[in-house]
Amino acid sequence: KETRSKMPKYPGLERWILVEKMGDGAFSNVYRARDSTGQYEQVAIKVVRKFEMNSNQSDHLHPSVKKVPKAAERANILKEVQIMRNLDHPNIVKLIDFSESRQYYYIVLELCPGGELFHQIVRLTYFSEDLSRHVILQVAQAIEYLHETSGVVHRDIKPENILFYPCPFVPSQNPKPQQPGDEEKEDEGEFTAGIGSGGIGKIKIADFGLSKVIWDSQTMTPCGTVGYTAPEIVKDERYSKSVDMWAMGCVLYTLLCGFPPFYDESIQVLTEKVARGQYTFLSPWWDDISKSAQDLISHLLTVDPEKRYTIKEFLNHPWIRQTDEETTAAA
Ligand code: ADP
Ligand code: MG
Repeated sequence: KETRSKMPKYPGLERWILVEKMGDGAFSNVYRARDSTGQYEQVAIKVVRKFEMNSNQSDHLHPSVKKVPKAAERANILKEVQIMRNLDHPNIVKLIDFSESRQYYYIVLELCPGGELFHQIVRLTYFSEDLSRHVILQVAQAIEYLHETSGVVHRDIKPENILFYPCPFVPSQNPKPQQPGDEEKEDEGEFTAGIGSGGIGKIKIADFGLSKVIWDSQTMTPCGTVGYTAPEIVKDERYSKSVDMWAMGCVLYTLLCGFPPFYDESIQVLTEKVARGQYTFLSPWWDDISKSAQDLISHLLTVDPEKRYTIKEFLNHPWIRQTDEETTAAA
């Protein structure tokens, strides 16, 4: 684990004391940080580089041409921040602050110390039906708020963007000695199977980098001149919500069995499979998973967006509405 002294210094970010790097992408690094003012205990800071450095080929060029400012990127970061600013829901990561320096954007976010759902699936192989319901219901409540209240489509719902708050594990009593080269691995802890209060805890949706505000007759979101909007646009916007529902189907499928509904080593074949909605409830992995869960998934992984479940229909499905006791009884 990186120590504080090894943390980079960013101009304009003096208020926050970087503690460790939690993730890094091509253009962004996400850090866990403490607040020197003491207002927040801990936060997550997404640091986004403003300039894309060109590859070595341009080494002979003047430094000013090597830096490619990304105008589109700027618009996107500002859009991401603008969308987040208007959101307020227990299952959505809150924006705390946004600022920028010459080289970087800083997005200060509420910290989700439990990390990605993705890692928990990898760690546990798959989730029980109760646990899956507990997770997907919270995702659904966030989506309901986005679709029905805020007129926002997330467009990037996946296990990497679903975060645990707080950590779903309690530290184990006897931590294993760390192997050299094992730096990545945290103490695995013990899974707190209890689903209720204090158990696996809350999840929150992150990453509004691909999100969009959509036209909605109920919420009257930005696109004000509704009277002039062409039918295909109105239709398009209605369907755009359905992309989140498809993604929720993929997440739920993956939660229950541990592998995604669509997979192929060839991108071409994979694209074909998705386009045709070609997936199966593969035996033996799906043999013991309830028909009700499979029914719900099939209503989400429906190719025709008009027939695909909306968030309201999802929340009304018997598998979602049933209690944990009912699942146990049925098993
Ligand atoms: P990107 O656009 O690069 O996917 P994300 O906003 O998804 O950016 O952040 C990248 C990763 O950083 C996430 O998948 C997650 O692991 C971590 N991360 C982001 N925000 C938080 C947060 N608020 N709390 C904890 N981890 C976070
Ligand atoms: Mg992401």
